[in-house]
Amino acid sequence: MHEKSISFKWEEYDSPDELAPDDNSLLEQATRAAMNAYAPYSGFRVGAALKLESGIVVTGTNVENAAFPSGICAERNALANASANYPGDRPVALAITALTKDGITGEPVSPCGNCRQVIAEEEYRYGKSIRLILGGKNNIRIIENAGDLLPLQFNSDSLKITPR
Ligand SMILES: [Zn+2]
Repeated sequence: MHEKSISFKWEEYDSPDELAPDDNSLLEQATRAAMNAYAPYSGFRVGAALKLESGIVVTGTNVENAAFPSGICAERNALANASANYPGDRPVALAITALTKDGITGEPVSPCGNCRQVIAEEEYRYGKSIRLILGGKNNIRIIENAGDLLPLQFNSDSLKITPR
C-alpha cells in the first residue's frame, strides 16, 4: 500500500487594486457580464470572462430554466461560445464573479463540478493551463492551473483515445 496526497497553492488578494491590470480588467468584465445573467429562480447571477490567446475576451452568464437541468452555468456558456466562435483560439484565463441582491458575493465562487470537468477538457485539448481569477468582495483568488480543482480527473487519457 502507498499512501499519497495532492495539494496545490493559490494566491489571495484583499482588493482588486492589488491585481495586475489585465486580471483586474477581466474581473470587471465578468462582473459586467453577471449583470446580464438570466437567473429568475435563484437570483444568483454569475458572470464569466474568458480571455483567449489572441486577446479576445468572451463572456458568459448563467442562463436558468424552469426545467432546472436545462440551465447552464456562466463558465460553460463562455467556454462554449469561445469554442464555437473562435475555434483554435486557446483559453488562457477565466474570471468569475457572482452577484446576489446585495451585490458581489463576499467570498469568491468556484466553478461547479460540471464546469470543472469542462474547463479540464479545454486544458487537455490545448495542453496548457487555464488561469482562474475568482472575485469576491472580501477577497480574490488566483489559481494558476484550473485542473488543480479537479485532481485525479477523468479525461481523454482515461478513454485512451485522442479527440480530433
Ligand atoms: Zn458550473
